[in-house]
Amino acid sequence: MNDSCSSPSSVITNLPVRQNLSAAVSAAYAQGCGGAVIVLKVSDLTQINHWHGYEAGDKVIEAVMNRIEPYLSEGYFLSRLGGGHFLIFLRADQGEGVLENRVDHLMSGVSSPIDFGGEALLIRCTAGVSLLPNEAEVTDKLIRNAELALGSAKVGRYAFYTEALQENLASEAEIRSALVGALDRAEFFLVYQPQFCIKTRQAVAVEALLRWQSPSLGLVPPDRFIPVAESTGLMPELGDWILKTACGQASQWLMAGEPLRVAVNISAAQLEDPEFARRVQEILAECRLPSSWLELEVTESMLVGPIQDVQTALQEIRRAGVKLAIDDFGTGYSNLAYLQHFVFDTLKIDRLFTNAVLETRAGDVLVKAIIAMGMELGLEIVAEGVETEDQKGALEALGCSRMQGYLFSRPVTAEKIPLSRVSE
Ligand code: C2E
Ligand code: CA
Ligand code: CA
Repeated sequence: MNDSCSSPSSVITNLPVRQNLSAAVSAAYAQGCGGAVIVLKVSDLTQINHWHGYEAGDKVIEAVMNRIEPYLSEGYFLSRLGGGHFLIFLRADQGEGVLENRVDHLMSGVSSPIDFGGEALLIRCTAGVSLLPNEAEVTDKLIRNAELALGSAKVGRYAFYTEALQENLASEAEIRSALVGALDRAEFFLVYQPQFCIKTRQAVAVEALLRWQSPSLGLVPPDRFIPVAESTGLMPELGDWILKTACGQASQWLMAGEPLRVAVNISAAQLEDPEFARRVQEILAECRLPSSWLELEVTESMLVGPIQDVQTALQEIRRAGVKLAIDDFGTGYSNLAYLQHFVFDTLKIDRLFTNAVLETRAGDVLVKAIIAMGMELGLEIVAEGVETEDQKGALEALGCSRMQGYLFSRPVTAEKIPLSRVSE
């Protein structure tokens, strides 16, 4: 019973689903209650089906469905759509703040790992939320707004629909067409976000982050256009440009007597290219950058499944002296077994955990465990998304000495990177 290919927007044409949702929404209005229409999707379903089989995919869907139910109260609505999508109506008798808390609890509740034949499959759910306005609105619009919000949410997180989103959110089709020729028209540029050593208060590395200034769509966030670039086959070429630009910049810093390691995000499409390891070395040679000044950031989800080829490529790159970082640590769906097969230099703790460190005791314990494990494996630990002094203090107390986040610096253009630091 797998239907991962069908479109989630089939709900718009699925009359019974629409009528049932309409009835739930109308009843809420009639009783003076608020509510939220949520489109929730299991983000890694395609990969789970691919690597672990459809049986695993079905088990994940079933688990998510069962986990949603306890969060629903009287007057709710829940329907399973195609493609690992769910349509939910949460009714609220209290104010919006309370509803937000309920969405938050639901999202953490559905995302804990499931056991599949003794292996822990981590589940990432992403959701778009459309809150009921005061006056009655047509159900279709609520669903479309929730889908728009889903499109703007980062994987594993949720986003609320806002009117600004409607104005700013280019459709996938618009992005796809505007991307054609964008590289030749020099519409991309890189910004750099420093990683700081807390003890020396110096920037010890920078992460290169891609930006796209489209003449027709404006500044499009990478989370929106990179998946489209991947699906249209642009990523290997764009990835090559990113590597060249970042290595060229690091080489300039080195020549100016200001060595600064540059970390570059690698996409799955690049790693799948059998020539990737060779290409990295060619680019380093072209840019005259010694390999240890480059670090490649890969995410956990790239390391599951038949890992032999990826493992060989990464090993070759590392043997050449390039550093390797595991990015967004803790958000992937795989278990930790892959850490035995890959050798990393750096572990980047995802922003989700940086936020959790102060919020719950469980968050604190988890971050402590990640740091202890990373240290045991001899990894450099970097906490991402540090925004407050309190987070910095808590992470430092747990033994994390490198941090990246708005508290220290937002991503900036190369000329704004503070130089004249003590390098490692
Ligand atoms: P990422 O690799 O996890 O990058 C970190 C993201 O967190 C960046 O978002 C950065 O601007 C943001 N960030 C940094 N500090 C803070 C903070 O304190 N608070 C908050 N709220 N956010 C913070 P950005 O630049 O929008 O990039 C998003 C994602 O897009 C990246 O996540 C990465 O997965 C992808 N990406 C960006 N550039 C590239 C690239 O050159 N190649 C590839 N393949 N992916 C890229
Ligand atoms: Ca990264
Ligand atoms: Ca990250």
